[in-house]
Amino acid sequence: MKITQHGKYLVQLTRLVAFNSFLVREDDGFTVVDTNMGGSAAGIIKAAETLGAPIRRITLTHAHIDHVGSLDALSQLLPEVEVSISSRDARFMAGDMSLDPGEPQDKLRGGYQVCATTPSRLLKPGDFVGSLEVIASPGHTPGHIAFFDHRDGTLIAGDAFSTQAGISVTGTLRLLFPFPAMATWHKPTGIASAEALMALKPSRLAVGHGKIVENPVPAMGWATAEAKRRIYGSDHAPQKVY
Ligand SMILES: [Zn+2]
Repeated sequence: MKITQHGKYLVQLTRLVAFNSFLVREDDGFTVVDTNMGGSAAGIIKAAETLGAPIRRITLTHAHIDHVGSLDALSQLLPEVEVSISSRDARFMAGDMSLDPGEPQDKLRGGYQVCATTPSRLLKPGDFVGSLEVIASPGHTPGHIAFFDHRDGTLIAGDAFSTQAGISVTGTLRLLFPFPAMATWHKPTGIASAEALMALKPSRLAVGHGKIVENPVPAMGWATAEAKRRIYGSDHAPQKVY
């Protein structure tokens, strides 16, 4: 587990070069954002110990296996810690793979893992997990959420963007690292979410896969324009995406 500090509050925990979890520093300890693939629990706990603060909360951007893979192990080791995820993606964790009537009826892609852990808190946009505001960012999964740290403008975007093999919006294929694109449920929804995240004007972009980008808004703009060109043939998306 590689540990990298970015600014005052964000710690990046990386496995196998391209798989990130994060520790976000709060006054009372750390919030874990995403638990990485299976086998990461001990490394996440050791990282927090090394940095000298307890883990207080675990929260999840979405229910794919490389983000919830170590949730059960981690919450068994830390039974008192709050576990949160969007109410929408919590259904996948519980094994309910149904789509709602109002949602695009596209195939769910990527590995979803049924978890023994029941989230102690279900999140909706506008909620806060510590200092992190929950931002709706569906598309990669129906209930994907990002986290915006108002203290320093850090955006933890999960798989709404990827920076591995070049920055991209979810669903834009990068041949050197195709997995997030292949795991994306509904690309037009993902593009609309990318624009909403860009509108937050983050100072730092942290993603599930790839390096952290400082002053990311121009790069997010290029990536969004590329995604639109690939889907719509121009930079201009239709008014209604589905
Ligand atoms: Zn994913």
